[in-house]
Amino acid sequence: MTALPALRTGKPRSELGHIKPTAELEIPYAIIEGAEAGPCLLVTAGVHGSEYCSIEAAVRLMKTKPEEIRGTLLILPILNVEAFHRRNIYIMPQDGKNLNRMFPGKPDGTTSEQLAHWLVTEVFPKADAYIDCHGGDLDEGLEPFTIFPAGCEKSQALAAAFGIKIAVAAGGSGYTVDASHKLGIPSILPEVSGNGLWGEATVTQMTDGIRRVMQHIGMLPGTAQVTKLDVVTMWVPTASAKGLWYPAKDLGDRVIAGEVLGEIRDVFGGTLATIRSEKAGFILYRLTSLSVNEKEALLGVGTPV
Ligand SMILES: [Zn+2]
Repeated sequence: MTALPALRTGKPRSELGHIKPTAELEIPYAIIEGAEAGPCLLVTAGVHGSEYCSIEAAVRLMKTKPEEIRGTLLILPILNVEAFHRRNIYIMPQDGKNLNRMFPGKPDGTTSEQLAHWLVTEVFPKADAYIDCHGGDLDEGLEPFTIFPAGCEKSQALAAAFGIKIAVAAGGSGYTVDASHKLGIPSILPEVSGNGLWGEATVTQMTDGIRRVMQHIGMLPGTAQVTKLDVVTMWVPTASAKGLWYPAKDLGDRVIAGEVLGEIRDVFGGTLATIRSEKAGFILYRLTSLSVNEKEALLGVGTPV
């Protein structure tokens, strides 16, 4: 396991390179240290290697000039490098596991567990705030939203600075921003764009949001404008069968409890499963591929808190 280079040397610098979190992995990084001391913001992307909008936003952020900022910007633009090159969805190809379910990881575990462990022990503790950039994977469409650890006011304040109106108060554990939150670091996970698309408007939405968070924590001059958040919880039904997925709702559609959200059918049109909403709310994301496998997430229903 390799330690990161020093984040604060007292000399403004832009350091780009690769680091080996484990014997097997090599990932790119950027450290941009401003002339003036200040907070350290960690930005990661590519936990899911085909969420290109988030990756491109992080790639652009690496061009930040040291003289523009106070403190240090640490960017890991593609954590799941192998999935990026192979255009895999959800998983790390080395072990078939979803890195964003593996935190806090294990030092002697599989590849994704080892990477999670490295992040939790070597990287997260060095940050004063953390943004883990995501977006709909190749097979997912979504309305932009920001996930934050439920009950963490400092994280919610980062979400308000980031600027997406819908904020998902997330429970559970195993994912990046919960693991960093448990170390006391305010953390958010913005989801922008879908189906792996990385159009200019969505990449800019991501980079603008990151810049507002940098203003909020005092890395950039000016006062971040604060968005009044609609805080929701998200309910995610999963597929009970493998087959063809026919959603009945579009992104943003309102739903009431009991309403049909979609059907899984066999290739001859027979119904294998009918998915009804357990919640009232609206559709935040949905699987857009016709093919669905058992246990895969079908939709996200956001319910106002
Ligand atoms: Zn993702």
